[in-house]
Amino acid sequence: MKLENHALLKHYTTFGVEAYADRVLEIEQENELYDFFSSAYAQQPYMLIGEGSNLLFVNDYHGTLVKMQTKGIVQKENDGKNVIVAVKAGEVWDDFVRYALQKSWYGLENLALIPGKVGSSPVQNIGAYGREAKDFIYKVHAYETASGRVRTFTNAECEFAYRNSIFKNKLKGQYVILEVEFLLSLVPDVNIQYEDVKKRLGNACHITPKQVYDAVVQIRREKLPDPQITGNAGSFFKNPVVSLSQYRQLKQQYDLKMYPVSEEVCKLSAAELITVCGWRGKRTGNVGVHPNQALVLVNYGGAKGAEVYHLAKQIQADVNNRFGVMLDMEVNVI
Ligand SMILES: Cc1cc2nc3c(=O)[nH]c(=O)nc-3n(C[C@H](O)[C@H](O)[C@H](O)COP(=O)(O)OP(=O)(O)OC[C@H]3O[C@@H](n4cnc5c(N)ncnc54)[C@H](O)[C@@H]3O)c2cc1C
Repeated sequence: MKLENHALLKHYTTFGVEAYADRVLEIEQENELYDFFSSAYAQQPYMLIGEGSNLLFVNDYHGTLVKMQTKGIVQKENDGKNVIVAVKAGEVWDDFVRYALQKSWYGLENLALIPGKVGSSPVQNIGAYGREAKDFIYKVHAYETASGRVRTFTNAECEFAYRNSIFKNKLKGQYVILEVEFLLSLVPDVNIQYEDVKKRLGNACHITPKQVYDAVVQIRREKLPDPQITGNAGSFFKNPVVSLSQYRQLKQQYDLKMYPVSEEVCKLSAAELITVCGWRGKRTGNVGVHPNQALVLVNYGGAKGAEVYHLAKQIQADVNNRFGVMLDMEVNVI
């Protein structure tokens, strides 16, 4: 267990904003977590964090940030076609994806290089390039803070949706995810439906999961700012879902892309709406909208969380005024 008092949050979040937490506690063994919950600190504000890659602290945090650092990847079952693999919350997501590839456990390739821990992956049901964590999560084992009991959630009980789950919603803050079980395939079954991936690999005759992994890594490196260099938390907003009739009305004025969801609703590209409003590449003080990816708000150095938040609110208001569409924030604002 490691404890840091008056911790600079720059070191614990990818946005790198200027703020402090009263303390950060790093949990290396699960029993340390149980000790924390029987201590006086758990009676004060606390919050679970992973790599802090989906967090924006608007102010200093007066309480304890609990960071899961527990490690372990264990194969539990193998029926010749699929494996079930149990992974501790503190494993780094991309380390696990690469380890799975090495072991010939397939499926996670499209989710390459997403920052964060395995324990956070069910919270917002991470997704990219045509795949989501929910496609592979078999069970989630989590500690209920109120009762001190460990509960196992099946995939259906996690209530996964687009960048959402029961852990971000109804049960927000009530459980600590300890371990995630994944159901992976022993037979390669690559998914290159996503336009960018298809373009890069489309002509190859026999595409391997490793090629998909490498292509996704390349695309991400070209498109997204590296948080080690420019502070950010990936997509700041979710793509909005609107009714088809609203889309048809908008279409009379704007040539917008749409992605069908059902017979009644479709998804619009938040990046496109933000770009049409003229925000792409715009900088105000220490913060701005990334020139290559309008969904990504960036800290050019020295920004406070409140500056990023203010920018996000301005973008939300502009998009709402022009299109009548309210963008939801994907990043957790604290
Ligand atoms: C450059 C960049 C690119 C990104 N690209 C993508 C992408 O393609 N797709 C995508 O989906 N996301 C993306 N993200 C967002 C981010 O990577 C994911 O949301 C990731 O799952 C966050 O993991 P984390 O460990 O950093 O969690 P944190 O940001 O630390 O925490 C996120 C939430 O999970 C909760 N939490 C953390 N650990 C636990 C636990 N053990 N138990 C219970 N709750 C917990 C926290 O309280 C918080 O509410 C990107 C971010 C960056 C910076």
